[in-house]
Amino acid sequence: MYFHLKRLGYFDKKKEVKLKSKNSTGKQGELLVARKLKKLDNKKYIVINDMYLRSKSGKLTQIDHIVVSVYGLFVVEVKNFMGTVIGGEDDTVWTHLVGKRSWDFYNPLRQNDAHVKVIKGFLGVDAPLIPIVCFTDRTTLKVKTKSVVTNPDGLVEYIANHSKPLISESELSNIVAYLKKNEAKGEKVKQEHLEQINDKKKYYKNGKYVGESMGNIQDKVSKTKCPKCGSRLMLRTGNKGDFWGCDNFPTCKHTEQVK
Ligand SMILES: [Zn+2]
Repeated sequence: MYFHLKRLGYFDKKKEVKLKSKNSTGKQGELLVARKLKKLDNKKYIVINDMYLRSKSGKLTQIDHIVVSVYGLFVVEVKNFMGTVIGGEDDTVWTHLVGKRSWDFYNPLRQNDAHVKVIKGFLGVDAPLIPIVCFTDRTTLKVKTKSVVTNPDGLVEYIANHSKPLISESELSNIVAYLKKNEAKGEKVKQEHLEQINDKKKYYKNGKYVGESMGNIQDKVSKTKCPKCGSRLMLRTGNKGDFWGCDNFPTCKHTEQVK
């Protein structure tokens, strides 16, 4: 089966380079998963990485990966967390443990369901959309869910196991063409999206804990405070790996090892 999807130009090699240049654990996770998804037969699957869609209200949604095929549209949210993750299908927040520290983050199933809704509204056709949350292999998963929560190898296997065509090839070509035409692209869009996320961080700083509930906040916050200045400690990635760094950097340079 080969329905000329390649000719539609959806194989964007430049994106991977861009992903690499971003030094955040979130982007590193996306890059890792993008590499795994290359295992899928490219005659049957189109992998769209790091896609931005704009809603009618102007809000941007960033989707880590969409795998498009006649077997369905797989919507993948990647979480690159080191440590243990505990959560259930209907919990509002899940817990992330690293050593003795723990913090809450918005249930990624809900976050991904929100992405699916945006795509559904965006496409305006009743395409079979399949949400998948993928943690990298740095995470020990202790989750109880009906929805699919997996690791990168499990992700590829899960997608490849869908062998019943649900969309006609012409419908699929239309969907791909529509996505391609309406994707919000370019550095300006990324900047705008970052600004939208930063607005949400200000909201967080005003004392209300929203964790990741606003959708895309990638920062991980420790429940313990900086011993020097009392600010939050944020999970950062440096040359030697992850560490806790004071949110008040560069004024305060306190860091702690991740245990
Ligand atoms: Zn500090």
